[in-house]
Amino acid sequence: MVTKSNNDKIKNSFIHGRNGKNSSESRAKKEFFIEAISKYCDRCGTPYSIDNVRIVQDSDKNSTTIIHFFCDNCLSNHIASFIKPLGLVNRVPIKSDLGSDELIKFIKQGSISADDVLSVYDYLSPDI
Ligand SMILES: [Zn+2]
Repeated sequence: MVTKSNNDKIKNSFIHGRNGKNSSESRAKKEFFIEAISKYCDRCGTPYSIDNVRIVQDSDKNSTTIIHFFCDNCLSNHIASFIKPLGLVNRVPIKSDLGSDELIKFIKQGSISADDVLSVYDYLSPDI
């Protein structure tokens, strides 16, 4: 359940970003993503502004950009991936109260390897 104060916290993290600024380059990118991917919330139709958009992952090495859309009105979250060379967009709703800072934190941790799964299995197995 997202509370009012939690909502304000999420909203602030969008407006101020990680480092507390919204550079003109990222503003232009956000405007582009609103135009190219989603102008309105899928759930309630409220128009998105650049304060509702956070670029979660964008690097030159990786040709896919991940963008998080957050609706002020109905509090729904959407994640979109944008594949630059092909101009393809895939957008999915996410049922989560994770803020964009938390999404960034988990994305940076990378994928889980088979060895990670085995170590958890060993950890949970009773000693015989
Ligand atoms: Zn909405």
